[in-house]
Amino acid sequence: MVERIVKSYKVLVGMEIHVQLATKSKMFTGAANGFGGEPNSQVDPVVLGLPGVLPVMNKTAVEYAIKVGLALGCKIAKHTKWDRKSYYYPDLPKNYQISQYDLPLCNEGEFDLTLKDGTMRKVRIRRAHLEEDAGKLLHEAPGGYHIDWSIVDLNRAGTPLLEIVTEPDLASGEEVATFGQELQKLVQFLGVSHAQMQMGHMRFEPNINVHITDSQGQIHKTAITEIKNLNSFSVLQRATDFEVQRQINDWIETGSLGKKSTYGWDEASESTWKQRDKEQAHDYRYFPDPDLVPVEVSEEWLTELKSQIGELPVARRKRYIEQFGLSPADAATFAGDRKLGDFYESTLAHDARPARTGSLILSHGFRLANIRSKPVYELGLEPIVFEEVAKLIDSDAISASAAGPIFDRLLETGGGSAAAIADELGLRQV
Ligand code: MN
Repeated sequence: MVERIVKSYKVLVGMEIHVQLATKSKMFTGAANGFGGEPNSQVDPVVLGLPGVLPVMNKTAVEYAIKVGLALGCKIAKHTKWDRKSYYYPDLPKNYQISQYDLPLCNEGEFDLTLKDGTMRKVRIRRAHLEEDAGKLLHEAPGGYHIDWSIVDLNRAGTPLLEIVTEPDLASGEEVATFGQELQKLVQFLGVSHAQMQMGHMRFEPNINVHITDSQGQIHKTAITEIKNLNSFSVLQRATDFEVQRQINDWIETGSLGKKSTYGWDEASESTWKQRDKEQAHDYRYFPDPDLVPVEVSEEWLTELKSQIGELPVARRKRYIEQFGLSPADAATFAGDRKLGDFYESTLAHDARPARTGSLILSHGFRLANIRSKPVYELGLEPIVFEEVAKLIDSDAISASAAGPIFDRLLETGGGSAAAIADELGLRQV
């Protein structure tokens, strides 16, 4: 028996991510793009693929996609078009999906990912394109499984999806999950997707392979496998790590590098299972959709969208660290939520005590937010009180532990002067 010994190995993971865009209507028709409702209530003749209907592009979906592309540092195509991806399946009755094949809207980006240990990793974005989603096929109807039929709900059919494809720049399940979380924050920050994982607004497909170096120094590259449709960060991490180990074990046991194929994740057994060998692009018979006009992106349009985006979280985080002296973790918290960041900056209008003020918001502000079950910027507190309390502590007028009762009272009274409350509660130090 040949002994195959793994001296070292390198993991390469690229990601495909489908992000559901939160437009009011669908990608190519005015039918509502909402969640829930009676099955097949959010449909119209275009969604149903009835004869004679014509699709019309949703401009807002294109704008949302461009915003994400800009935020990912992509080049935005000046000219792009729509293609038909043919497949026969009841979840999309017209028998093709409208997508973008050879001229995607966004190309060649780069995302600075901060890993859990604080190091930076550049994740190259290969492309991002727009397409429509399919409906849902249910094999278990109300009343249980029936051998003769399945049922279909087309409410999701035609929903705008942004498909983002990265280069294989991620190297572990943890990195993959971190990237997913950062991307979720980014699309939420841009206001283009609700990005609720449990609602399937973001679906992840890691493409995984391993370069194994054996005891002789020879390198063995396993075939790329793709795990389909993962919609939780925990599963994303575990499925990736499992698949890496499966590929390595396969090589050790059989010497086989596997075949390019598609896998699913089974939560019950915590393992991946092979669905099918990978289809080739030509199986889909892509061709330009003759019913839709190409998209021309002008410089004016791009400039307008850039101005709407404003400062991105990555830039904000950097500025909070450099300008305000915040810790990377605190800076990330403020930068990741546009409204929270704006609130924080509005507390600093008067007397700059950015680090102390920031930590008061994150400790006492968040504590009060928890009590009232609403975000700190909706508590009705004047932003200035955080800085006022920071100043009282920094000048030794009160101790740090006096901040708690002062904020409790501010919440009760809905505002007022922190200094007056300190006097009233007898919290001033002598
Ligand atoms: Mn897709």
